Amino acid sequence: MSSQDIAISAPGKGTALITGASTGIGAVYAERLARRGYDLVLVARNKERLEALAERLVRETGRRVEVLAADLTATADLRRVEERLRSDERITLLLNNAGLGATATLLDSDPDQIDTMIQLNVVALTRLTRAVAPGFVARGGGALINIASIVALSPELLNGSYSGSKAYVVNLSQSLHHELGAKGVKVQAVLPGATRTDFWGIAGVPVEHLPQEIVMSAEDLVDSALAGFDAGELITIPSLPDVEDWKRFDAARQALGPNLSRSVPAARYANAATATATATATATAA
Ligand code: NAP
Repeated sequence: MSSQDIAISAPGKGTALITGASTGIGAVYAERLARRGYDLVLVARNKERLEALAERLVRETGRRVEVLAADLTATADLRRVEERLRSDERITLLLNNAGLGATATLLDSDPDQIDTMIQLNVVALTRLTRAVAPGFVARGGGALINIASIVALSPELLNGSYSGSKAYVVNLSQSLHHELGAKGVKVQAVLPGATRTDFWGIAGVPVEHLPQEIVMSAEDLVDSALAGFDAGELITIPSLPDVEDWKRFDAARQALGPNLSRSVPAARYANAATATATATATATAA
């Protein structure tokens, strides 16, 4: 039996809706998820590319693959995809992958492009998640995979609003795991490093201009991310050699918890706070 026959006979796992499926990381996920037994709904703007991919995947895997052309920064299109996520009970996985980057510094960037990036990376991702999650909870299961970026942990790289948008994705994923994990919803945030796709050219620096030793193929990225998903990871950083580095970082963050909100200022600020209070009282009395 060939590996293709095995893929075709894989049992159904429900439907995965993938945003940004027309190329790059999303297109590789589409192929891998179809071979794992998912039917697919492929979302992006470029209908021709989506249809070509859908046709190939139906032929090669025998799964049902539907194309939903949508610009997720356009309100009407976004609402259409939200409605699909709310109403289609076969959907068992939402892959929030569509995203835009920016390589120029904030001062050198176009505010309208930053706005569009935030609409796609943050607003659309949030609304799609909000649309699908209640159904997952009601049905007792489902999976959310959110594609973030290592810049979430490295705000000094690239554009601050891009890294901020990806830090949002990490925070939201951690919060959703906390909120929905016990309700059967599996959450994963994937933090790719530089990956060989059109993303870089669109963001302003062709990927060929990067040192090639920091660039991973989209295939390796997705296969590692899916291995992390299978292992039940909440945060997957495919490039990081030692996962203990991440665990130590996260443990340090969590150790801050009990001290982040208190009724009195920290001792190092106490003198300044007292001095300000005294000055205010003196000014009021005068
Ligand atoms: P890509 O090759 O440029 O693909 C982006 C995908 O998003 C395409 O399918 C594109 O399709 C879709 N898309 C863009 N704007 C859209 C919109 N307004 N509405 C709907 N779909 C839209 O980039 P990629 O590298 O695969 O990126 C995928 C994700 O990985 C992004 O979230 C990105 O931030 C993240 N990431 C990438 C890298 C990297 O180095 N490549 C590193 C870290 C994180 P259409 O043009 O057809 O709409």
